[in-house]
Amino acid sequence: MPRFTTMLRTALTLFAALLCLQPATALALAYEAHLPPELFSAPDLCAYTDCKTVLPGAERFSVRDGQPRFVTGYKGDKAIGYVFLSTDLVDIPAYSGKPVITLIGMDTQGRFTGIRVLKHSEPILLLGIPETKLEAFVGQYHGKSVAQHFEVGSGDKETVGLDAISGATVTVVAENQVITRAAQQVARKVGILKAEQRPTARYKDIGDLPDWDALVKAGAVSRLTVQPADVGEPDTGMPYLDLWLGVLNHQTLGRAVLGATGWHDLMARLKPHETALFVIGSGAGSFKGSGFVRGGIFDRVQVKQDADTYTFRDLDYLNLYSLQAKGHPAFRESGIFILRDASFSAAYPFRFVYLANKQDKATGQRQFINFDAKLWLPDAWLEGGRPAVSEPEAPWKKIWRDKAVSIGFFIAFLAVVAFTYSRRDWLTAQATIRDKRWVAWPKYVFWTISIVWIGGVLMAQPSITHVMTWFHSLISRWEWELFLTDPFIFIFWWFIFITLFVWGRGLFCGWLCPFGSLSEMAYKLAGKLGLKRFQRHLPKPLHDKMKWVKYGVFFALMALSLWSMTMAEQFAEVEPFKTTFLVGPWNRSWPFQLFFAVVLGVSLFVERPFCKYVCPLGAGLAIPTTFRFFGLRRKKECGPCKACAVQCGSLAIAADGKIDQRECLLCLDCMVYYHDDHACPPLVHERKRREKAGLKLTPIGRDGYFIPIKEVRSDAA
Ligand code: SF4
Ligand code: SF4
Repeated sequence: MPRFTTMLRTALTLFAALLCLQPATALALAYEAHLPPELFSAPDLCAYTDCKTVLPGAERFSVRDGQPRFVTGYKGDKAIGYVFLSTDLVDIPAYSGKPVITLIGMDTQGRFTGIRVLKHSEPILLLGIPETKLEAFVGQYHGKSVAQHFEVGSGDKETVGLDAISGATVTVVAENQVITRAAQQVARKVGILKAEQRPTARYKDIGDLPDWDALVKAGAVSRLTVQPADVGEPDTGMPYLDLWLGVLNHQTLGRAVLGATGWHDLMARLKPHETALFVIGSGAGSFKGSGFVRGGIFDRVQVKQDADTYTFRDLDYLNLYSLQAKGHPAFRESGIFILRDASFSAAYPFRFVYLANKQDKATGQRQFINFDAKLWLPDAWLEGGRPAVSEPEAPWKKIWRDKAVSIGFFIAFLAVVAFTYSRRDWLTAQATIRDKRWVAWPKYVFWTISIVWIGGVLMAQPSITHVMTWFHSLISRWEWELFLTDPFIFIFWWFIFITLFVWGRGLFCGWLCPFGSLSEMAYKLAGKLGLKRFQRHLPKPLHDKMKWVKYGVFFALMALSLWSMTMAEQFAEVEPFKTTFLVGPWNRSWPFQLFFAVVLGVSLFVERPFCKYVCPLGAGLAIPTTFRFFGLRRKKECGPCKACAVQCGSLAIAADGKIDQRECLLCLDCMVYYHDDHACPPLVHERKRREKAGLKLTPIGRDGYFIPIKEVRSDAA
């Protein structure tokens, strides 16, 4: 068997090599392009990308500073337009769950002068959809005004229709939001677009002064919590930043927080259209930041209301030394920020945004991350109640609506698979070890659908990267929207999660995983095509050692993700799933192609080698399988007998006859044996005994044996 270990070692070595070669050999221009870290953080944006390509005619550019972040392009001394990086302004994930990083140019009249996609992670754009289609899509904005309304699809008098990219609708819907929302922010900042005028809030006195708990319960104050993991800091068991905030103009809230005198003094300083917010904070992070000292601008906080962004200067800040509300939380920092723009109205919902800086420890790359808390005074706290607002529809809702039919089929398919498996006793009772059609054919059909439709068309191959993302979300910020963007992955994971605890991971791994299905299908086909005599299992003692490798890979990736998610995602390429289904082998560089070919090639001779020894996802699912509710049937004689162990391609039946449910892929081969009264030794013995005694054979559960009911002549042999 050393040949198998050599093959496995070769595969792993190749994998390590291809990780090193990945950036240099990427075939597509913007797909996972390597961008300099400074592009996201350095003041001189245009030193790290060619800004002139999106603002032709500009001779020099300013640095980016303040909020929102953009640079101004000059010809001579005259400002001719603005250039901005989408991720400086908006955080909208596309199909891949990551943003399409876009450089946008706009002249001083608000006309788009150029748009370039610098980086995307959209595998769908590599599957027969050339990247030039995305370039053509963003080219449609050229010469049009930021004041216009853009919609993917057909336009009308008020809307500019944009040609979608067939097969990549989600990507272009997200990209349209990225471009328009980013441009609107800059246009409002520089005065091209007028901020929306909202009626001033009319506050309603609630009477008795509430204590802190009552304010929280009523929803009059909001909380914004940032965990250390969110900003790449070591876990201290405490939030990195814990902010509480509210609108002081409201007489009840203002008097509760400042006391009657303090509130009257504050109101006397404000003009009628001005709004004051109090903010208190605890934790190692600071919401005031150092920008206040440097340039008189608070660079860590801002307020957003629809597309309007409001920032604060030193003149918009007042000290706040204490809070009057009983039971208020302890705080380290406090202050009052004044929104002086008449377009802002506290009657409408708004977001208080904290802008953090996260450094990826492994790559050194800095990333800006926004955290926000929504504030909207309670309905009963406003004269006439809350005004009607039309919030923009979340992109995931449109995706679910557009894919409703496929989602319906997908759910139906999963239900059929689960139902089929739930009938395993009946199915395995119909089969014999010489004729396994009743068990084999349903699986062949499900495998084919999984490979072609789920993997190839829906690209819904679950992956360890999903587990890492959830793991991170659980310990930092859980965002349903991030997971809802891909309905198939979302539904699939719920199915996996539920069936994992009911039957174990085998239903997914053995019946539904697109790559696992492909691997086993390749093995079965190779056997049928004459390679059976070369097909082998690893010796059980060696297998029992090698199976732990995948658990090592799983824990290594999870640990690495705590250190650097970027690096963990690169190493997650140990799963050939991306090459197989998301990107396609023909779209990848040769090391990935070779790794894919080796894994699949070994699968022709060894049953599911990747699943048994390498797959971190399989390992991650195997661990909770320990707690599955329903195991497979065993007889008391199974221990000493072990005859069915030779049927187990997963080598999951131990020397004592027990099934290792973590390794079992629920192929049901052993169950066919278990029910076959011409194969299972104790059953053969029992059948013969009963036949001899002229007894009827009994159905399941009667006395621990399963013998199909069939009339047997008492003189039958
Ligand atoms: S072990 Fe991995 S590749 Fe194999 S079936 Fe399970 S998840 Fe899929
Ligand atoms: S033969 Fe092995 S993998 Fe298949 S159901 Fe039985 S124990 Fe599980």
